[in-house]
Parts: sequence; structure tokens; C-alpha cells
Amino acid sequence: NSGDIPAYAARLNAPQKNAVLTTEGPVLMLAGAGTGKTAALTARLAHLVAMRKAWPSEILCVTFTNKAAREMRERVGGHIGDAVEGMPWLGTFHSIGAKMLRRHAELVGLQSNYTIIDTDDQLRLLKQLIRDAELDEKRWPPRQLAGLIDRWKNRGLNPDDLDAVENESYANGRGQEFYRTYQERLKALNACDFGDLLLHVLNIFRKHREVLEQYQKRFKYILVDEYQDTNQVQYLWLRLLAQERKNICVVGDDDQSIYSWRGAEVANILKFDRDFPGAKVVRLEQNYRSTPEILAAASGLINANSQRLGKELWTELPKGDKVRVVGVWDAPEEARRVGEDIERLESEGANLDQIAILVRAQYQTREFEDRFIQIGLNYRIIGGFRFYERAEIRDALAYLRVIAQPQDDLAFERIYNQPKRGLGAKTLEKMHSYARSSGMPLAAASLQLADSDELPKRAGSTIAALMRDFLRWREMEPNVTPADLLRTVLDECGYSAMLEAENTAEAAGRIENLSELARAMEEYESLGDFLEHVSLVMDNDARDDGEKITIMTMHAAKGLEFNNVFLPGWEEGVFPSQRSLDEGGLASLEEERRLAYVAITRARKRCTILHAANRRIYGQWTSSIPSRFIEELPDEYIDQETTMAGGASLWRANWSESDDPFAHVSSARPNRSNARGPGWQRALSSGYETKQAVVKENRRSAASFAAQPRSDITLGARVFHDKFGYGTVMSQEGNKLEINFEQAGTKRVIDSFVTVDSS
Ligand code: ATP
Ligand code: MG
Repeated sequence: NSGDIPAYAARLNAPQKNAVLTTEGPVLMLAGAGTGKTAALTARLAHLVAMRKAWPSEILCVTFTNKAAREMRERVGGHIGDAVEGMPWLGTFHSIGAKMLRRHAELVGLQSNYTIIDTDDQLRLLKQLIRDAELDEKRWPPRQLAGLIDRWKNRGLNPDDLDAVENESYANGRGQEFYRTYQERLKALNACDFGDLLLHVLNIFRKHREVLEQYQKRFKYILVDEYQDTNQVQYLWLRLLAQERKNICVVGDDDQSIYSWRGAEVANILKFDRDFPGAKVVRLEQNYRSTPEILAAASGLINANSQRLGKELWTELPKGDKVRVVGVWDAPEEARRVGEDIERLESEGANLDQIAILVRAQYQTREFEDRFIQIGLNYRIIGGFRFYERAEIRDALAYLRVIAQPQDDLAFERIYNQPKRGLGAKTLEKMHSYARSSGMPLAAASLQLADSDELPKRAGSTIAALMRDFLRWREMEPNVTPADLLRTVLDECGYSAMLEAENTAEAAGRIENLSELARAMEEYESLGDFLEHVSLVMDNDARDDGEKITIMTMHAAKGLEFNNVFLPGWEEGVFPSQRSLDEGGLASLEEERRLAYVAITRARKRCTILHAANRRIYGQWTSSIPSRFIEELPDEYIDQETTMAGGASLWRANWSESDDPFAHVSSARPNRSNARGPGWQRALSSGYETKQAVVKENRRSAASFAAQPRSDITLGARVFHDKFGYGTVMSQEGNKLEINFEQAGTKRVIDSFVTVDSS
């Protein structure tokens, strides 16, 4: 009698129902993407409340993001109404930890109104400690220490728990000392960092049985989503809480474990039935999200991983489009293609909210942002700043603005002490008051000040040196490309060195963003043009209405779904990332492959993967190799686009847009059979020791499979080029020629675009 089935269970399949109705004892739901794990977990929550198994306040439910918690609250609310209001323990590990810590702060020496400091505060504090210890902060960057402390906290380690190896990892055996002092300073400030939110609570549970018991009694049921990405401290915390009643239900997918770099341990889900003997294991195999093609492509890909439990997924959804793999010439064309596709989808009635672009690295968003703004497509960036709003980009732009416009006080104020030059707030105050009284711009005023005795000697000479730098850059500006100017400035002002010294994944991301900024600038003739472009783009950021395309990293997209998903940049060194290749281990490559699996399985109806044949790296064109993940997709579910159809017109349209001779060469565009050539194989086994090696290898293999030099062209030959006219061949490297054109000067062109003048 279907009338008896409550709404929240009505559409669940048998194993899902099993997971919902088995309320007592440990339950593990281990299943692939889109099989309804989160849906079942939500139904279970509704069921527990509706059946009055527990009050909402007696259920602990952990989600991976705040957004997921909000969604679950809404969905459960739809089933059980107002009861959902009193559900205080539904949230992320951090938010639940923070709430518990407020109640028992005094047990770890804090007051209940403690502050949670962010990464910036954390770094400032660590920097002070490093200075107090008279340690060289270039040699031992605060960020490195912050990274280590985070890692220790993720593993549930207090200062006293560090072993000799851990201790050695910072400042020759002083890691423990710094960690301890940092914790003491935080306490004195009545503050804690993110890592403390769980570690403190874990410490409280361990030392104060009565507190632990109180929570063990309270939480009649515990539910955890995305369990495969829990780290050690989260695991220990959950295990203590669940030990009494053992009514814990966790769901996850070993194939979607993608946060090991942040301390997550997939082992936690694999050993669940050992931690909780007698656990009921529910497997879900029917996928309700994706078309058969998308599902088969994703399954084929993840099959290449050796470290997995292995599972089969099936779907009853009707057939759809194959996964499209589109080879494009370069990043601008990639963004253009995606823009065109989205405009077409929009004209067919698609909702922009159901379209996502998922990138491997933050810097990849820039090309899409520029393009979408240009053609007026609304977008939002999730889990990060829009490109031009990022701190390092704003810093770099501030330098450029001061060069272009010495009166730009705001820009000057942003960077006069960035990177740190030992100029403090007092100095700035003096500069400001002098600028005001003399009616001069800040930079000019500070130069005059530097020449007087108004400032301490050291500050004065520092400012004078900075102003000399600006003069030099300003003189340089008309003679170099904007991109080269930026690179020079970042090197000479110490910004690049500052980031390199940090030696963290985050700093590496910032360096990538700055290279991307330089790449963006390659398209502009003058600094002025570029800065104007940026101010227009930034202005556009204010818009906030209606449907929007989502741009986010693959990591942030976990658990979400969209009708249309675009996956750009599937090239060796971008995805899989250079970092994962440099580390070289199988584990890091398999984690990248799981990320690819997560990315593809976000798509409900259509999935488009793109790879560009060329990327500009440090101003140099570099041939890219299609990602090995493309190769691993089963052929029968893939539509490989050669981009030749319609390519010619696309191409001609662009001819006038860019001055770059390589931007228009269709004959050398990649196709799938080329990608399988010997160069590809060789590149795969080459080891990828350094970026340089990869670049070289890419060039070599690109030359070997795509670009045989033309034998009819010899050095000194007179040739004709459609755009540049007559010229003489100066050098020949693969299919690239350097030609001294009679009118246009020296250019690098592709040989298929010249004809030999036989007259
Ligand atoms: P992921 O591994 O990506 O987190 P998941 O296993 O959590 O995926 P859900 O997000 O819960 O999967 O579900 C995927 C889609 O399938 C959702 O749109 C959900 O509404 C739908 N769905 C789940 N279960 C069923 C079902 N029994 N019948 C119909 N649709 C379902
Ligand atoms: Mg889910």
C-alpha cells in the first residue's frame, strides 16, 4: 500500500531504503558517484525525526561543505517541516567543532567568546614568533610552519605528540618548540585556528570522560557524508562519539577521495567495518544522475586505477550524447569555443545555473572570465576569488598602475610595503600627512620625505630605492612588452622571491596566477591598453542578478551536479597537474585520476572535455600533450572533434584579432590519432623530472607526431606568407620557421602557411 510510504522514502530503491530503515547499529554506504548516497542520507535524517527515533537535537549530521549542510537542511525541512529548525548539529566538521568548543572552552584554557583566526592572522602570528626567535624567515618561511602545524593538527597531534622526524622538519629540530609557543600565544589571545576547532575538542574528549559521555549519550544517531575524505582528527573524533551507541551511518566512495593532500585518509572508509564490527554494508549501483555515455566514460577512466575496491554502475536513464573531446588550438580558442557552446545552449533554452566549468587550477578561470565578460555571459566563481580580485593579482596590478600613473596613491599604498620592506604604519602616516600638506601624490611626497630627515634613515633609503626602481621601470615601459615588464617588476621588487621562499602549494598557486596574468598581458600592445581592459573587467564584477554559469575547481564541485559540464585544460602538466607528475608517485597520479572521475560524474546530460595544442608559458609557445586521461576514456563513448569542420571560418574570423602567426594554423591541430603516436608514448615514460624537461619533451614529441619539417624549404629560401608577404627563411625548427619578412620584419610562422617562391 503505497499510501503508507512516507514521502521521503517514496522514490528510494531497495538498497537505499535498507540504508534508511536500518536505523540501529553501524551502517556503511559505499557506492559510486550519483547513486543517491546523499539522497539516502537525507532521507535517513528525515526518517529518524519523523519516526521520533530521536529529537532533531539528538542527531549529529556532518557534511563536507556549508552549502551541502544548507541543502540538506532544506531538503529535510521539505519532508518534516519545522522540526528541522531545531537541528543544531547539522553542519561541517568545523562548524560543529566550533559549537562544541564554545561550550567547553575553559577546559582548554580559552573563554567561550574565543576568536577563530584566519590564515592571514595565523601567518602574522607565526612570523612574530619566527622573528622573536631571531630565525631567518626567508630560510624558514612562516607559511611552511603554518602548513606543518595544520598537518599535525589534521593528524590529531599535539606538540607533545611529535616524534623526532616531525620535529626535525622545521628549523633543524625546532618544530615542536614553535608549535608549542604558537599554541601558548593563541591561548593568551583567547583565540584558536581552524585546526584547533577539532583538535581541542578531541583533547577535551580524551581528558574529560564526563564531557565525552555527555555527547555519547546525546547523539543517538550520527550521519556522515563524504566519509572517504575525512582526516585522522575527524576520524578519531567521530569514533569516540559513536563508540557508545554505535548508531553511525557513513557514506562515501573510495573512487572520490581527492583530499589526501589535506590530510584525508581513504583508509578510514575502507576499515569502517573493522572499527565497527557487524556494520551493515550497503552498496548502491544504480546511478540516477548521468546518461549511460557519461557514466561509461567515467567508469572506463577510473578502471585504470589499481588502488580501488572496484564497482559496477548502471543506469536506466535514456541514451544521450557521447562525451565530447574537443581539441582546440590554444587557451583563447578554448574559452571562445566554450562561450559559443554556452550561447547555443542558452538559445535552446538551457538554464545557466545548470552549466558548470570545472578547472584543475584557479589560474585557468581567467581566460573564461575575460571571454564571458566580453560576450556578456553571467558567471559566478565558487570557492575562490574572481581572477582579478585575488591578492597577488591586485598587488601586481598595483605595481603596474604606479608605473603607468605615478599619482595612483591607492595603488602605491597597497604595495609600498609588499613584499615587506620594513616600512611600517608610522612611515605611511608621515607620507600621508606630507602628501596632504604639500598637495603632492603619495609616491612623489614619499620621495621628497626620503630625502629629508623626517624619516628614520633606514626607511628613507628603502623608499628612495623603491622610487629608483619605479623610475627605471617607467623608463623601460615603452621599450618592452607589458608582459615582460610585469615579469621584470615581479623579479626585481622581490615579489617572486617572496612566493618562492614560501614553498607551499598555495604559494605555487599564486605563482601560477601571476604567470597567467603575464599570459593575459601578451595580448596587449601597451600597458595602458591592458590596464584599461582590467578596469573594465573589474567594473563588470559588480553585476549580480539572474542565472549564472558556475566556474569552480573540480575539488570544490564534489557532491554537486549540473546538466552541462565543461572540463577545459586536459593536457599533461595541467591535468594531471605538473605537481602530481613531479612527485612522480603512483598515488598522486591515481588521486588525479579520481579527480577526473569526480569531474566527469558531475554531469547529468552533457560533458565536454577540451584540450589545447598550445599553451603560452613564460611568453613562449609550447606544444601541449593531451592528457593521458583522454586516452583512457573508452572510445565507444567518446566523440572526438577534429575541429576542422567550421574551423576554417572560425579561424579566418580570428585572423585579424591577433597578431600571432601561430594562432591560425589549422593543419597542425591535434587529433586523436596523432595523440597516440610514438611521441606521446615516449613523453609518458619520460619521468617529468622538471618543468623544463617536460617543455623540451613536449616540443620534441610534438615535432615527432605533428610537425614534420617541410623538405622543400631550405635556409635562405624566399617564401611568401599570406599575411606578412615575402621574406627569407632564417631558421627552421620542426615546422616552425623564423622568417625575415621584407615588410613585416622577423616573425615566427608555421611552414604550412608559406609557399616557396620559385620565380
Ligand atoms: P556523489 O557521489 O556525486 O556525491 P551521490 O551518491 O551522493 O553522488 P546524490 O547526489 O544523492 O548521489 O543523487 C544523485 C541524483 O540522483 C540526484 O539528482 C538525486 O536526486 C537522484 N536520486 C537519488 N536517488 C534516487 C532514486 N532512488 N530515484 C530517482 N532519483 C534519485
Ligand atoms: Mg553525494
